[in-house]
Amino acid sequence: MGIKTVKFGGSSLCDADHFRMVADIIKSDPERRYVVPSAPGKRSKDDIKVTDMLYECYKFARERMTREFDATYEKICDRYNGIISGLGLNFDISGELEYIKQAILMRAGRDFAASRGEYLNSLILAKYLGYDFIDAENVIFFKEGGNIDMELTESALSYELKKHERAVIPGFYGKMPNDTVKTFSRGGSDITGSIVALASGSDLYENWTDVSGVLMADPRIVENPCVIEKITYRELRELSYMGASVLHEDATFPVRNAGIPINVRNTLRPEDPGTMIVKSAKGYDKKHIITGIAGKKGFSVITIESDMMNSEVGFGRKVLEIFEEFGLSFEHLPSGIDTMSVILATSEIEGREDRLLRALKHSVHPDSITVEKGLALIAVVGRGMVKSKGTAARVFKACTEADVNIRMIDQGSCELNIILGVNEADFEAAVGAIYGEFVH
Ligand code: ADP
Ligand code: ASP
Ligand code: MG
Repeated sequence: MGIKTVKFGGSSLCDADHFRMVADIIKSDPERRYVVPSAPGKRSKDDIKVTDMLYECYKFARERMTREFDATYEKICDRYNGIISGLGLNFDISGELEYIKQAILMRAGRDFAASRGEYLNSLILAKYLGYDFIDAENVIFFKEGGNIDMELTESALSYELKKHERAVIPGFYGKMPNDTVKTFSRGGSDITGSIVALASGSDLYENWTDVSGVLMADPRIVENPCVIEKITYRELRELSYMGASVLHEDATFPVRNAGIPINVRNTLRPEDPGTMIVKSAKGYDKKHIITGIAGKKGFSVITIESDMMNSEVGFGRKVLEIFEEFGLSFEHLPSGIDTMSVILATSEIEGREDRLLRALKHSVHPDSITVEKGLALIAVVGRGMVKSKGTAARVFKACTEADVNIRMIDQGSCELNIILGVNEADFEAAVGAIYGEFVH
């Protein structure tokens, strides 16, 4: 019998009814032995995720806003008590809730506060399923700088998992060398799922969410986009990095070397096959030239102009050294003969723009230097796509017909993607037009 690791997102575990659906899915396949839950998500569009309420509580505790803290913490308790009573479980978590409340008030830390969403949900799910509970802080370890310590984690986790036929392991958090709790970035339960799949020697990592797989475009932008049946780890990484938020951008790393496929599935429609994320899709005939489109707003372009830049050896290095000194990571570097542009997230330079420009002027003495905000980046992704004649032309034609001006193009040398920069105001129109051009 094989082993499957199953991760359920917050939308799949938002209330007692969803817990029941999740339990049915798990129990319908005996191979589903290791379960990674998120914290309860939104029950409706206007609802608030438990993780967001925990961050709020941490903030209220720090600012000594006792009344606000109590009101929000009360809502969190209601969410969990509602799930327990809705499931008809005989399970008292009042002691846990009180302990966590006091710990947050005593400044146990922002990550500790946020992590309790997954911790409590996992306790309840383990009880409901009759599975063992393994606390992530005993098996997921971070290094001093905050990166995951894969070696230590893999050995501790696989050792622990061997002792449990079936277990629930909370997503999103682990432990620092100084014993404090640390979380991944938002959406990080996807990473925990991937780590558990690796350490348990799973044959498949199922990631259950509220859509029927990875879609060719964000469903909040394109109506009813097609489901991608099969996609490679590399393509998925490109899409998720560029905004396809269905899977955390780092979630493929743990499983990809081991070649464990990820299957993204819909908890509300378990009969749908979902998307298979695999190492190689050789021999698989995809329906469309492109695999998917994703994008994000919130980028800036810093353009540096200097006559004869091309003959000034070391110019680029000096510019990039300044970015390095400021600890800024950039996305793209489109350049002309006498211009060099650096594209990066606007949030990275906010509040430091003047200092950064002064440092650049001082280092390379350019003729001019400008900052333009309000750029959105769009990635059109597809293995082999760039090699197929006319693909770029079709992307540009679609944008032209939608009256969208393309401000930047970056095709790189890999055959996987074409990146476009457009005005933020044109973002949705451009994504819709490109989708319409390739998917009929
Ligand atoms: P979970 O609670 O299961 O972790 P998320 O909210 O993190 O779920 O991710 C699922 C959501 O991602 C979908 O509801 C959808 O709105 C959004 N999304 C954005 N881009 C895509 C895409 N390309 N394919 C599927 N979903 C996407
Ligand atoms: N609960 C966390 C968040 O909201 C982690 C996750 O859902 O994956 O970001
Ligand atoms: Mg998620």
